[in-house]
Amino acid sequence: MSTLKKYNAKRNFAKTKEPKGKVSKVKKTKLKYIIQHHLARKDHYDLRLEYNGVLVSFAVPKGPSFNPRDKRLAVKVEDHPLSYANFEGTIPKGEYGAGTVMLFDIGTWYPLNNTKINFKNGPLKFYIQGKRLQGAWALVPFKDDNYLLIKEKDEYVNKNNINKYKTSIKTGRTMQEIAENAPEEIELTSPDKIIFANGKITKKDIYDYYKKVSKYMMPYLDNRLISTVRCPDGKDKFYMKHLNNNSKNLKVKKIRNKEDENSDYYYFKNATGLLEEVQMNSFEFHIWGSKQNKINEPDILVFDLDPDEDLSLAKVRRGVKDLKNILDKLKLKAYLKTSGGKGYHIYVPLKMTSWSKAEKIASDISDLLVQTYPTKYTTNMRKEKRKGKIFIDYFRNKKGATSVCPYSLRLKDKATVSLPIKWSELDKIKPDSITIKNVDKYLKRKDPWSDFFA
Ligand code: MN
Repeated sequence: MSTLKKYNAKRNFAKTKEPKGKVSKVKKTKLKYIIQHHLARKDHYDLRLEYNGVLVSFAVPKGPSFNPRDKRLAVKVEDHPLSYANFEGTIPKGEYGAGTVMLFDIGTWYPLNNTKINFKNGPLKFYIQGKRLQGAWALVPFKDDNYLLIKEKDEYVNKNNINKYKTSIKTGRTMQEIAENAPEEIELTSPDKIIFANGKITKKDIYDYYKKVSKYMMPYLDNRLISTVRCPDGKDKFYMKHLNNNSKNLKVKKIRNKEDENSDYYYFKNATGLLEEVQMNSFEFHIWGSKQNKINEPDILVFDLDPDEDLSLAKVRRGVKDLKNILDKLKLKAYLKTSGGKGYHIYVPLKMTSWSKAEKIASDISDLLVQTYPTKYTTNMRKEKRKGKIFIDYFRNKKGATSVCPYSLRLKDKATVSLPIKWSELDKIKPDSITIKNVDKYLKRKDPWSDFFA
């Protein structure tokens, strides 16, 4: 006899939206199979197989593998009600399993061994008819509640990594999009506080802006260490490298470097982390050129064209085009965004094996530009050397350096946005003309950087 006593005891149904546990009638129809991707304290996948009116459940830390040589740990957890097969959403902070649940795969299953199905004794061989997982699998018990989930050899063996599936099989949403329902949990303090006097833009306006763009912004924040600019009173700015926000939506990465040994750097686990930072008065976000899990392998080159005062916009645009010509000749695909200040930023997605290589490539390209047009451009940072020229700032291509994240607001006087634009828009859009107030029309069109991570 199945019961859901354990399931019900672990949950407070006044707080979580998960379904209450009730054992269903045993039907003669096909048995349900589902996998949920569960981003909780630890990222894992939950395999659930219908049996005796409940979903017999296993937490699989690494998720299933399509390779029969991989043996994936699967820990048997409490049975779940059949209605859990429809659950996708967030489990609130402080509750059991707090985090985001995404429906990863759905379908049916049937046992392959003829013996009575037993999840405890011999291995269970079974067949999955799902959308992402198919074919024969085995659950092999080895100690207490620990099992090994193994793909059996058949035509469904393949080299895919389950990480490649990033969206819900049912709603097409990403984890971030599902988590976006959660930000209501954040208590926004001082919502009416004016942060940008010019335009009377409040903290609530900024919060709403980031909530709206988080789905576009998260791909650039994903696994990237960040620094932020905080501006609690709308006047004083604090550049924050080491956040002090104790949140499960923020992850720490310890970095050893000469200046500040063993420093804690941070990255966002989800859009809620970003919004929590906005609540903490961080309004501008900067990212590293590498991901935290490949910290020494930068994957973005950044060029910032910074004109000397009084230099015409036409010359700045010419500079962007001259740089693009060089990048085109080198067959490097480049992407353009407004800086929200005086210049434009050019991003080049490029997988590199070290920071010294990134720096070398960026400086070589910049030097080529300066050698071709010595009167127009310089890579010399000193003010007097920049007179009447555009400074090609390639110095962001170093470990620990950051650049303004696409879609970030800038703490300039009118809440400008550093927004991805099309190359054909270079002559039409000024570096500081997109702001929190007119950004919507740009968000409606097709994302000009849609293939950035392709
Ligand atoms: Mn779970």
